Amino acid sequence: MAGIKVRTDPVTRSKLGESVLSDLREELRAIDCQTCGRPLRRWRRPALAVYADGELANASLHHAGCRPPGWHEGPMAPVSDVPHLTWRAGTFVMPALLTLGAASDGTPFFLVNPSYEAALLQYVDGDRGEDGEHGETSENREHGEDGETARGWQVWTVEVFRELGLDGGLHALSPDAVPTRGLTASIADRRVSVTVRSGEVHHHWPDIPVSPETERLARSRGSIVVGVTTLFDIHKPITDLQIGMHVATGEFAVGVAALAGSGGGKGGRRRKP
Ligand SMILES: [Zn+2]
Repeated sequence: MAGIKVRTDPVTRSKLGESVLSDLREELRAIDCQTCGRPLRRWRRPALAVYADGELANASLHHAGCRPPGWHEGPMAPVSDVPHLTWRAGTFVMPALLTLGAASDGTPFFLVNPSYEAALLQYVDGDRGEDGEHGETSENREHGEDGETARGWQVWTVEVFRELGLDGGLHALSPDAVPTRGLTASIADRRVSVTVRSGEVHHHWPDIPVSPETERLARSRGSIVVGVTTLFDIHKPITDLQIGMHVATGEFAVGVAALAGSGGGKGGRRRKP
């Protein structure tokens, strides 16, 4: 995947470096302008605007006429105040065969890409990646004065969900898996709504259709497995095998949402049409 083409400014290019910009081009999808909410046109490269607040930054796509490419320092709006952000989700049953023995029955699964036109970035100062997995070999990152610790910005959109406890991997597929704190789901009228709530973080993904079989399995185990990814557009075809592999390799943030009795899907952000 080559990713999308974006307009960038020299400050953003020097702050992020080519490696992180490349990650952003693959993760971001040019659906709607995050300033005016109208569609971004494929043949006009969107502008990348970054708002950095301490160790966190938000990178988002805009019509170049609505917001020029640029790097800004200052407080960021919380996710719930970003009305034009596109998210998409789907549900399905993961066949027992693909759970590598974690489940003997099919697993009810909710897969969401929470952030199409925006990505969260985290400034990693070398102490975080203790095993050096993230960067000792990267030439694009700054090095600390001691010459050992790598540091720099990293795409953090999915990592945030892992920090909230969606770090279950294949274990989450087991019917005995303990529900993830702060993660809940409800099913009504053949639609499922999922909520992640932890401290300041609040995501609500309401009214995603479920098949009768997915609903039966979810009710039977009292939960639905939730996978968070930015690797896919959920509205494009994805095979069970692809999903199984990404769960097994830990590339999705995966948790278990306990199923509430009913209702609970009210009062959230409306889904964009
Ligand atoms: Zn616009």
